[in-house]
Amino acid sequence: MKQSDICIIGGGIVGAATALKLIQAFPKKRIVLMEKENQPARHQTGRNSGVIHAGVYYQPGSLKAQYCREGLQRTIAYCKQFDLPYEQCGKLLVATNDAEMERMQSLFQRCQENELRPEMLDANQLKKREPNITGLGAFWVEDTGIVDYIKLTAHMLAQFKAKGGEVLYSHQVTALAENESGVTITAAQKSGSQDAVSQRVYQSQFLVNCSGLQSDRLATMMGLDIDFEIIPFRGEYYLLAEKHNQVVNHLIYPIPDPELPFLGVHLTKMIDGTVTVGPNAVLAMGREAYRKTDVDLADIAQMMRFSGIWPMLRKNLKSGLNEMKNSVFKSGYLSLVQKYCPSIRKEDLLPYRSGIRAQAVSKNGELIHDFKFVSSARSLHVGNAPSPAATSAMPIADAIYDRCLALM
Ligand SMILES: Cc1cc2nc3c(=O)[nH]c(=O)nc-3n(C[C@H](O)[C@H](O)[C@H](O)COP(=O)(O)OP(=O)(O)OC[C@H]3O[C@@H](n4cnc5c(N)ncnc54)[C@H](O)[C@@H]3O)c2cc1C
Repeated sequence: MKQSDICIIGGGIVGAATALKLIQAFPKKRIVLMEKENQPARHQTGRNSGVIHAGVYYQPGSLKAQYCREGLQRTIAYCKQFDLPYEQCGKLLVATNDAEMERMQSLFQRCQENELRPEMLDANQLKKREPNITGLGAFWVEDTGIVDYIKLTAHMLAQFKAKGGEVLYSHQVTALAENESGVTITAAQKSGSQDAVSQRVYQSQFLVNCSGLQSDRLATMMGLDIDFEIIPFRGEYYLLAEKHNQVVNHLIYPIPDPELPFLGVHLTKMIDGTVTVGPNAVLAMGREAYRKTDVDLADIAQMMRFSGIWPMLRKNLKSGLNEMKNSVFKSGYLSLVQKYCPSIRKEDLLPYRSGIRAQAVSKNGELIHDFKFVSSARSLHVGNAPSPAATSAMPIADAIYDRCLALM
């Protein structure tokens, strides 16, 4: 049986940042990272908007507000240090009606409380900065940037390996058992072109669970009695036709619904020079159900048994149905972006990959807004790490290190 001091589950950006932090802190320990796919960042990290958030939206004092602000600086510093591509292109939040103008005022204030320096623009000033964008007003946040999170994750894992860490790809953790000396980890290892599967058993003194969409399941496997479940929300994108690559100079966001942890369909300059539109937020029919037609019956059955799902659906019925309608009818989706960018036409929206957010929901149906950790004597679990967790990965890794120190 293979032994390690610390085993990290999950090769997304949170797992990678954690692996790097822990090998730097404990250079003599045997640290292993297990990932079920054959390469890093195949789920949330590799399917997101690629934005380094500045921390506009988050409740002041929350973990999201703290870690996002620090994460922005550290992500940029890391990219500078290792010459990875990033751009601090700034973002505009655009209000297109009176209700949004009012909500924009409170968001502007929140932004100031979060120690950012937003700048208010009237309709003319907005037009000057962004000739293709129309709105009654907007505010400007210069700190926001863009990056390639797949490259960043792969780079962190390469650093981890260079410092003596081990990465085991194609290892899907299927069982966990805590005992006095640590955790017994059973993993199904896929190998060869036929995808032959063999069972492997590992022993680790400590386990860190960074498995994103599966994090609640791994915590439950460890025997933890958790009071939330991960609910998958698909975010569908379109790619703008190439002729629109210069349509905006900055990232363009709508004013979001303050009740929901989703930011609304935005125009995002990607680090490769393309522009995406999205993502929306529809309940996914499976945790990895990336296509509209994908259905995972086991995932749905679990979701339907979860007590939190019904109050959550009731509470968000109107917005949920709207999102579904706009997902089915491209014209509905188009209207969301035309509100602030009227020159985009239906034929400009080209197919693009979707992503699925791992959103923790409490047993009484509340969407859990902040990052959340749960632990046992021998393990620590990242229970909720939705956006802006890619931006915040390095401070999250520091928090994991602090909690590990207290537990180990
Ligand atoms: C559509 C969308 C847009 C977003 N936009 C942004 C953005 O612009 N900026 C931002 O900061 N954040 C954004 N986010 C959020 C951000 O992408 C996530 O918060 C972040 O990537 C979470 O990283 P993670 O490592 O926790 O999870 P993941 O990237 O999902 O990684 C978890 C890993 O665990 C592995 N795993 C799962 N189960 C097992 C198992 N049993 N055994 C072994 N391995 C396992 C998975 O294969 C996966 O690789 C967005 C998210 C989505 C979905």
